[in-house]
Formats: sequence, C-alpha cells, structure tokens
Amino acid sequence: MATLNVISIIGISLTIISITNKKQYDHQNVENINILNVKNRKFDYIVVGAGAAGAIVAYRLADEAGSTVLLLEAGGPQNLYNDIPALQDKDEYAVQNWKYPTNESNQIAGGRVFGGSSAINSMNYYRESPEYYRLWTEITGLSEWTFDKVLPYFLKSENNLDHKLVAENSGYHRTGGRVTVTSSESNAMMKHLMIGAEMLGHKKTFGDGREPMGAAVLQNTIDTNRSRVSTEKAFLENNKLKNFKIFGNSMVTKVIFNNQKQATGVEFSRYGRKYRVFANKEVILSAGSIGSSKLLMLSGVGPRDHLKQFEIPVVADLNVGHNFVFPLIAIITFDIINQSMVEPPTETIDHLIDYYIRHTGPLGYNQSTIICFPEQAYSQSYPELSNGCLLARTGLVNNRMTLFAIAVVRRPKTTGRIELVSNDPFKAPVAKTCTVCDSTDVDKMVKVFKSIIQLYTSPYMRQFIQFNPIGGGCTPCAGDNYSCDDYLRCIVKKYTSPALSMGGCRIGVSPETGAVVDKTFRVFGVQRLRVIDSSIIPVPTEQGMTISMMIGEYGSHTVINGF
Ligand SMILES: Cc1cc2nc3c(=O)[nH]c(=O)nc-3n(C[C@H](O)[C@H](O)[C@H](O)COP(=O)(O)OP(=O)(O)OC[C@H]3O[C@@H](n4cnc5c(N)ncnc54)[C@H](O)[C@@H]3O)c2cc1C
Repeated sequence: MATLNVISIIGISLTIISITNKKQYDHQNVENINILNVKNRKFDYIVVGAGAAGAIVAYRLADEAGSTVLLLEAGGPQNLYNDIPALQDKDEYAVQNWKYPTNESNQIAGGRVFGGSSAINSMNYYRESPEYYRLWTEITGLSEWTFDKVLPYFLKSENNLDHKLVAENSGYHRTGGRVTVTSSESNAMMKHLMIGAEMLGHKKTFGDGREPMGAAVLQNTIDTNRSRVSTEKAFLENNKLKNFKIFGNSMVTKVIFNNQKQATGVEFSRYGRKYRVFANKEVILSAGSIGSSKLLMLSGVGPRDHLKQFEIPVVADLNVGHNFVFPLIAIITFDIINQSMVEPPTETIDHLIDYYIRHTGPLGYNQSTIICFPEQAYSQSYPELSNGCLLARTGLVNNRMTLFAIAVVRRPKTTGRIELVSNDPFKAPVAKTCTVCDSTDVDKMVKVFKSIIQLYTSPYMRQFIQFNPIGGGCTPCAGDNYSCDDYLRCIVKKYTSPALSMGGCRIGVSPETGAVVDKTFRVFGVQRLRVIDSSIIPVPTEQGMTISMMIGEYGSHTVINGF
C-alpha cells in the first residue's frame, strides 16, 4: 500500500512537471500571436525549424547579431521522456516523429519537436574524420569545407566536461560552449566488447571520429544530471531575449516570393489558423533534409517537371530533393547469457529514484560503442574514411537484455530523391529509395556482418553472448552456419534500411553541378533565402547531429558576417 502511494505521488509529480514543461513555450509566446498580423511588424530573420541546426541559427542571429528573429517549429516542446537517455525508444516519442515514408515501405525518423532530431536521437557526439571532409570538398568543389575550416564551428558550441580529454586534446575539444558533452563509464557488456575488440587487434581510439578506424566508446550530449542535451535545452530553454520569438505547433506551408524572386516571408498554420509573416532581411530554412526540400518545392523552387506535375508555379528550376543520401543499417541481436550482468533500463521506482535523486542508474545511460573495420575503408585513395562499422548497444528485447549489432554501411552507392506526392503542405512527401539495389552495397553489408560476427563469436565474447537468429525466412547454411554468404545476403536483403536522411539541397559551386545552395548557403536563382541544415550535406554519415550543429554555427556565422 505504502509503495503504491509512493508510486502514485511520483506519477502525479512527473505528470505535473511534464505538463508544465509542455506549456512553457505556449505561455511564453501565445500572447504575441496577434502581433503577427499587425502591419509593419516584421522580423529581420525568419528561421523555419528548431532542430539541431535551426535552433542554433536562430539563437545566434538573435544573441550575437541582435537581430529580431522569429523561429517557427512544427512540433511542440519536449517532455520528460526526451530527457531520460535510456528511454529513447519509447512509444511516447511517436507523436514527436515525422516518420517520413519511403516508397519501399520503410520510414525515416525525424524529430517533430523543439530540438528536432536532437531531442529524439541516440545523443552520440561524433564529428567524422578529416578525410570525410576531404571527400566533401571533392564532391562539392568547395575548399571551405576541409576539417580545419569546420573545426572552429564544432568548438564554438562544445562544452566538453571530460576535462582530461580536453586537456589532452587541446585545439580539438573545449569546455565552455552551450552543448554539454560527457563521457560515461561503460556497462559490463560494453567493457567486455572493448576487450574482445582489442584482443582481435582493433585499436582503441577516442570516439570523436578524428581517427575512425578502431574501437571507441562514444561521448554523448548528456549533462551531469544524466539528462539529454538537445539544441532546445542548449539554446532555447528559458530564452529571455526580447528580440527572439519562438512559436511551436507552427507548420510552415510556403515561402512567399515577390516579383523579383526575393523571399519576403512565409505562410504558416497554427492550431488550424493561417498566418503570413514577413522578414526584413532573410528567410532561413532549417527544416531538416526532408522538410527543407519539401518546403522549397511547395514554394516553387525545385525540378521544373516535378513542380508542373502538381501545378506549382516555378520560381527557380533546381535539383531540390536530388542527391538525397543516407547510410544503410541492418541489425542482428545477441542474447546476453548472464542476465544479471547488465541492469535493464526499466522505469521501476528504484531506477526513477536513482535517476532523479542520485543522477545515476540504468535510466541515465544510453551507451554506444563504435567499431570501424579498417578492412572496410571507403576506397584505396581514402584509406582512413570508414565505410563499414559496427554500432553496439545493449537494450531490452522481450524482457531480456540483448547486445545489438547494428551493421552500418556509412557511404553506400545508392542515393535517393525526395518528391512531393501532392501540393497539399499537410501531406508527407515520399523519400524514393532503392536500398539494396546496388550489388556492391549488398556485398559491403555482408562483409560488415562478417567482421561483426568474427568479433561477436570470438572465444572471448562467446563466454557472454549467443547469437539470436532473426529467422524471417533466412535459413542458415549446413551445420547451423550463420556466417555464410547465402544466409547473410538473405538477412541483408530483408532487413537493410536507410538509417536516417541527409542531402536533398546539396551545397556546391553551381546549379549545373546539382547544387541547390552556394557556399554561403544561399539558394541559387532566388534572393534572401538560405538553407542551413543537414540537407546541404553531400556525404552520408549515421552521425548527423554534431555535424548539423556545426552547420548551424557555420551558417549563422556566415549570415552575421554578411557573406
Ligand atoms: C532516431 C535517430 C537517432 C539518431 N542518432 C544520432 C546520434 O546518436 N548521433 C548523431 O550525430 N546523429 C544522430 N541522428 C541524426 C541527427 O539527429 C540528425 O542528422 C540531425 O538532427 C539533423 O539536423 P537538422 O537540423 O537538419 O534537422 P532536425 O534536427 O531533424 O530538425 C528539423 C526541424 O524542422 C522542423 N520542421 C520540419 N518541417 C517543418 C515545417 N514545415 N514547419 C516548421 N518546422 C518544420 C522539424 O519538426 C524539426 O524540429 C539520429 C537521428 C534519428 C532520427
């Protein structure tokens, strides 16, 4: 009885805090809604999308440049589930996820909430290697995107609280920015995995991506209270800037252009009412790779024939939605033999008390280990650009703790396209993908699985885990052989999917090269319109958050300095 009472008190308290949290933006901003219709009430900048990049862009323009800024976000505020790292896969996130459809009946996740995908993602803080940016400059023809040139923008927002690491890597990491990053103690399973990897000769590396080949425990955007640090928390929460207005539940439906093809404002819908709002200087799209492509096309910026299909008047004929890139993933699971080795992240009263009062316990951790296999490099001319990696995590499956093996092909040959299905802004676009159409991608994924199985079934790891066959019509080879080509090829073809999305508005030197924005993030063929988010990325990676935050810093610096 006493326990029940405690549970109900905690339940009620959590609900109250959650509701209070949910309300904070509405309280702050609802009173301002009418001013949007007042003549002459203009903002210098309108930023669309409060995600990993957009929250930073809007904040910096308001804070550093002192500009008047309106930030419009389709989703609402975060709730308590977003804070708790181990509850990332909760159903409660469903309403905060766009679940963009693909033509292959997959869904591509994307945050529809303040903080965007940084509020629902795995929080791994990873920057990719200098070679990644070398490939980026090669594809785009822009020398502005080498590792050395983007590094200051990573550093600008970084508040890395692993002081030893910062001291040993001065120039590469720092403390003092707005995004808190921490290292955490590995759980027993992850410790064994690291030992197993080292025994097979995998070099132990630091996990920021600078030296990708090898094994590393990743740092996370989690604070010292073990609470997620999204860009909402880092840049928007408790905003006191008078020149910075933030509206949630505001779905932007169109960019408004004048006769000179200048973007003058946007239309948006909030609680069923339509609004038009105008910008003195610029409109900046940070709606994520699918969101920004969709919005451009709805506004008349996109491939001419595609827009004509939906009777959308063409403002600029550009390859919007093309060069949509994504890493591929496929997951197999291994049972942890001794279930007491890793505590499950369940919402028991003990775990909640540990989490909220002692800031410890399994709810506060979401640990990922990454192992990139040197034999799976991108190409001979890019020996340090990893292309085949393992992302390992523990988690609950059917009430048993499991070691996940997420096989990743980071830079597959396959690419896709974002297309409209209608001129109705409330209809989701489709991501046209052909996930396992390129045989070299399938071969690559099979090889990645072989490298993973070699590690997971090594004599050292066999003490702790056993393979958990997925079935699904894939039969092992003779002698229950689960690492033969035929079995793995079947698994790969059935279970591979795009992990997440980037590209669609690639950055580059000219529209003739397929680029949508120039090196200053300006959309070609129109004026006063930029795209600053993951849609400009030319080379896929499964770790887009840190890079999108860097893009937000780079982009806002570019705008503020008048480039
Ligand atoms: C489940 C998951 C796990 C991930 N794990 C990691 C990880 O551990 N580490 C990592 O580095 N990366 C990870 N990523 C990727 C990373 O989060 C994204 O690459 C990054 O957040 C993209 O940033 P963005 O600013 O381009 O878009 P987002 O962060 O997605 O922000 C776009 C925002 O625009 C809003 N928006 C869209 N359309 C409109 C509109 N019409 N009107 C108003 N607002 C609109 C959206 O609601 C959203 O808030 C993960 C992604 C997902 C989905």
